[in-house]
Formats: sequence, structure tokens, C-alpha cells
Amino acid sequence: MIIPLPHRLNKKQYKELVAVVNEFNIKIQPIVGAERTIYAMIGDESDPRLIKRVEGLPYIDRIDRVQVPFKLMSKKSNLAKNQIKVGRKVLGQSLAIIAGPCAVDHKNKNLMLETAHALKEIGVDMLRGGVWKPRTSPYSFQGDEKSLEILLEARSQTGLPINTEIMDEEQARICVDAGVDSFQVGARNALNYRLLQQLGEMTANKNMNVLLKRSMHMGPVNEFILAAEYIAANGNPNIILCPRGTMPAIQGFRNSPDESITVLLKERTWAPVIVDPSHSVGKSVYVPNACLAAIGYGADGIVVECNLNPGKGLGDDPKQAITPDTLAPLIKDCRAMYQRSKKYLPQGS
Ligand code: PEP
Ligand code: MN
Repeated sequence: MIIPLPHRLNKKQYKELVAVVNEFNIKIQPIVGAERTIYAMIGDESDPRLIKRVEGLPYIDRIDRVQVPFKLMSKKSNLAKNQIKVGRKVLGQSLAIIAGPCAVDHKNKNLMLETAHALKEIGVDMLRGGVWKPRTSPYSFQGDEKSLEILLEARSQTGLPINTEIMDEEQARICVDAGVDSFQVGARNALNYRLLQQLGEMTANKNMNVLLKRSMHMGPVNEFILAAEYIAANGNPNIILCPRGTMPAIQGFRNSPDESITVLLKERTWAPVIVDPSHSVGKSVYVPNACLAAIGYGADGIVVECNLNPGKGLGDDPKQAITPDTLAPLIKDCRAMYQRSKKYLPQGS
């Protein structure tokens, strides 16, 4: 990672830097942060001549060589200073709550809009809602592009930013053009490296977040962080890691709850963690305690499926969405837990 002396390089300096590293078959990926831009070297950067040439440039401060597989997502990376916001909340400073239905029903606009208003009322920071849905069966409801309009309307009526899942480049493009605030990469696509690259490129320098779910098939924690590295290495460091349960499921739960990995993620990466307890336990009665557990393990926030009328909702809502009436007191308890758990969390997490 190349750290320049100025906050960012001018065009001439950038061109010269690119020319130097190209001689060593290295590409440069600028990572634009709020305060400064740093420049990741993509390729084998071990040649000592490369290091000397780059460090010899008058406008370069130094090269940080991070010895972990994820050099951008590592706590030692300069990106560790990156601040990511959910609505007005700066992650790491106060607890963020994302809530909304599993899917936005294009045939029942009012349910989404009324739910959005109820969520705003109780202090939710961002709305969630699927426009396109990854369904196990090709015959189940797959979502509908018309739902994006409804989600955008919910945003303009409530002022709350919106998060929605994209499953391919085309959907990502539609959402970038529509100015969606947060792009969810779901559990089924968290290992789709090409999509992670494309999304990183498409959302670079746009002040858009990526909420990266943990795949239900991911094993080691580093595998999850490396998936995030793909997005950062392609230009967007505004990444939030989202544990959501893995396979095999524990009998009675939809997946194996994995909120406890939050402490491990926080030891290795600077990325904020927002846990999804809804898909992890998969039943609304277990969701509140799972939220508290996640925050106990140091989560910066939670993303929960919530619907004014879960029985009328699509996708997962009838079984796992909670109502705003349940969420309202839960948010208060989550905030108390957020303060309380700090005492027991490892330093610097
Ligand atoms: C969802 O958020 O509705 C969803 C499909 O999530 P996941 O990718 O975690 O299954
Ligand atoms: Mn869902």
C-alpha cells in the first residue's frame, strides 16, 4: 500500500506512479477515504527495486507492507481510519439498526410505506428490503424491479437510507444509477468473486456502502475477510461485514448462529460488523435474544427483518420477521447492551 505525502496525488504524480509500478507488472488501485487517498498495489510487490523506485518518488511518504492475506482489510492497513456511516450513525461510535421486510411487495406498496414510517418512528437508522430475492426454488417469488421504486419512495418519505440485495452486475447497475445507499451481497453470492469485483468498481468513490453477508458455506474467518478484500481492492472500502449464520443448521434454527465470530473479525479487521440474527435463527421468537447476543459480542449494529404485518409479508417474513412493536423496546435494550458489553470486550475491538 502506497501512502502519499499529500492527501491525494495530482494527475501528473499519479501518472508517473502508475508508469513506475507498471514496469513491475503491478496495477494501482486508489482507495479514496474521507481524509486521504491511498494507493494499493495489485500484484507481486516483493521486488526490492520496486519498493526503492516508489519510495524514491518525492511525493511518496512510504510503502506499508502488510504481511497478512488481506492487506486492505487488515487492522494494520491505513484504511483502519475509514469511517463508515449508516444514516447519521458512525459505526463504532454508536449502535446502528437496519430493519425492514425480507422482500418489498410490489403489489402492496402501502405495507412497505407504513412499515417504513413505523420504523422511522422507533429510531431505526436504515431501511432494508429485497427488490430481487435469491430463492432456493425457482418457482418461489423472485422479487420484482418495481419494488425499487417503492423502496425509493419509502426513503424519500422517511428520510431513511436504504439497503437492498443485488445478485448480478445488471441489478447493481440499476441500483447505482438509482442512488441506493447500501448494497447487500447475500449469503449465496458472498463467494461470487466476480460480482464482488464488479460491485467494488461500480460503487467506488460514490459514498455507497456494501453490506457483505457471510456465506452459509464459508469456513475460516479469513475467507470472509478476503471476500471483503475483493471489494476494497476494486475501489470501495465502505464495507460492513454481516454474519448471518452458516450451514449445517442446528436443529430448530435455520442456520448455525455465528454472531460470536464478531470478536474474531474485530481482532483481524477494522471493518464494522452488523449481525443479521433473523436469517441465523430463522424464527421471530428467537430474534430478540439473538440481537442482544450479537451486541454482546461487540457488533456495531444489527440488521433485522421487521414488518408491520409479518403474516402478509413475502419471503421470510411470515416466519422470521418481528414487528415494530417488538423492535421498539428491543432497540432500547440493544443500546443498553451496547454500552454494557464494552466493558468485557478485548481492547481495541
Ligand atoms: C435477506 O436478507 O433477505 C437474505 C436473502 O439474506 P441471506 O443472503 O443472508 O440469506
Ligand atoms: Mn430474508
